Amino acid sequence: MTVAYRWAGITDTGKSRTENQDSVYPEGLGEGSSGVIAVADGLGGHPGGDIASRCAVDAIADAPDGTDGAGLVGAAHDRIIARIAEALGERSELIAMATTLTLAVLTPDEPIEVAHVGDSRAYLANGSNIVQVTDDHTHGMDRVVAGELSLEEAQRDPDWHVMSNWLGFESYRVATYRVPVEPGDRLLLCTDGLTNMLADDRIAEILAEGTVERSAAALVDAANDAGGVDNITVVVVDVLEAERAPGPAT
Ligand code: CA
Repeated sequence: MTVAYRWAGITDTGKSRTENQDSVYPEGLGEGSSGVIAVADGLGGHPGGDIASRCAVDAIADAPDGTDGAGLVGAAHDRIIARIAEALGERSELIAMATTLTLAVLTPDEPIEVAHVGDSRAYLANGSNIVQVTDDHTHGMDRVVAGELSLEEAQRDPDWHVMSNWLGFESYRVATYRVPVEPGDRLLLCTDGLTNMLADDRIAEILAEGTVERSAAALVDAANDAGGVDNITVVVVDVLEAERAPGPAT
């Protein structure tokens, strides 16, 4: 099926933090039959989280058209490692800078491709149905995905949500997903500043209402109303029917 897209990206500092270490790509509204969207969450507690997440989205912006999801993550990784090398000697604390990265490559022919490192998330929604596309790369979820523990068992470990995989270190792994979509679907990319504040059901409710820009703004507002303890970043994407090319004259 041939489809098109309309998207809205917002990043917000939230109510507790003084600095926004998240980055979004692209910020604001856009539409087209193809494109790349991304969220990156610079790791708090690591100096330069804001620089790492900014490097990731800048590398995506600069990548040639047609680069696949793993290629885009690789470009982001290379940019961060180069920035760390540049900083050595001058700001050596930046050696620890790190970020998550979750992106989607939107193409006129589905399925779309999601590429993911860390604990930001992609969701696919239709009406009140919502499915989390990505697995969180945390010590607990890794063991759940491997079949070693149930989710309940994993959640008993106080460190279960500690991240196990991120960009900013030589070794990382990219998870890629091929996601079939159809007109009427909504894709959401978001950082944990949203998902730690709102349950999936609440996210689905808000996602089911209004245009992409209203829905994205409403998600950020709801996370802030719920406490806004972290930076909040969302990209909401509508999957649309592609406009038919004019047929031959009769
Ligand atoms: Ca965060």
